[in-house]
Amino acid sequence: MSKSFSGTAISGCALLLLSVLSCAGCKASGTSDPAKPAPPFMSKVAAPPPQIPDDAPPAEKTAGFDGKRAYDLVAKQVSFGPRPSGSPVIAQLQNFLESELKSYGCTVEADSFSSDTPAGRIAMKNLLVKIPGDKPGVILLGTHYDTKRLDNFVGADDAGSSTAVMLELARQLCAKRGRYAVWIAFFDGEEAIRPQWEDPDNRYGSRQMAARFANSGDLKSIRAFLLADIVGGKNLRIKRESDSTQSLVDVIWSTAARLGYSQYFVNESSPVSDDHDSFLKRNVPSADVIALDAAADYWHTPQDNMSIISAKSLAIVGHVFLESIKQLQSR
Ligand SMILES: [Zn+2]
Repeated sequence: MSKSFSGTAISGCALLLLSVLSCAGCKASGTSDPAKPAPPFMSKVAAPPPQIPDDAPPAEKTAGFDGKRAYDLVAKQVSFGPRPSGSPVIAQLQNFLESELKSYGCTVEADSFSSDTPAGRIAMKNLLVKIPGDKPGVILLGTHYDTKRLDNFVGADDAGSSTAVMLELARQLCAKRGRYAVWIAFFDGEEAIRPQWEDPDNRYGSRQMAARFANSGDLKSIRAFLLADIVGGKNLRIKRESDSTQSLVDVIWSTAARLGYSQYFVNESSPVSDDHDSFLKRNVPSADVIALDAAADYWHTPQDNMSIISAKSLAIVGHVFLESIKQLQSR
């Protein structure tokens, strides 16, 4: 995703940051003390020690949502490595997502398609979990699962975190039946192929799904679309996304306040372009839950790795989603 008003500038900053950080890395691994021998080459590239997740509240305190389990699901995605659209690695992730969702008892539909991009025609695949309801109407949840095409970019927060949250929500919800159906979308191709965010080179998967829903007639059944993206950072601070449907944002923010999470769901706003735009453009009430500003230090850099992921943050966001869905189910 990108700031809608300055995608190019932000991408430029990210690149600048990358070059600064790579220089910092050279300095750190050098031999500033002449008395000490140079470390063996491997020590320069050795992986950092595994991070211990910070304390997630027990699942019974977050309506069953298991933050530790979500943390492990982020780590699993990161273990595949970079996962850009069309790569052999994203195919491994797609297989993992499908088998994981089926192990929860979820019904999963896959939509394989291809998109013309600045890098040529790229094969993509959306996944859609469908949980039936008692009345007509659908509450749609969503995340993207591709990572941006950048060297050494493993996307723990963007978009490992929201993908893990949606998996854990699916584990909670696939066994239940509510008043309305709940569908959970896993979008391919959210990230721009080019470094900068410039329409139509982005949101390939969500545009595909929204167009499919328009053709099938499902679009008018969607009562609300709740999108998550970049929600697992230790520095969790989520602003209201200003292009989102504000009545829907109010449901999420009032739920977060009721649960005591106002320090994480703050009453500031900023605009972000993301997969919800594909549905907003088709008049579906949509809200994006995204902590983009809080992620500015590592967004679209190799520093978006497990060291910045928090099981507690994942649990808080999962809890807010579960309780917001209950609110939407009661209307
Ligand atoms: Zn993203």
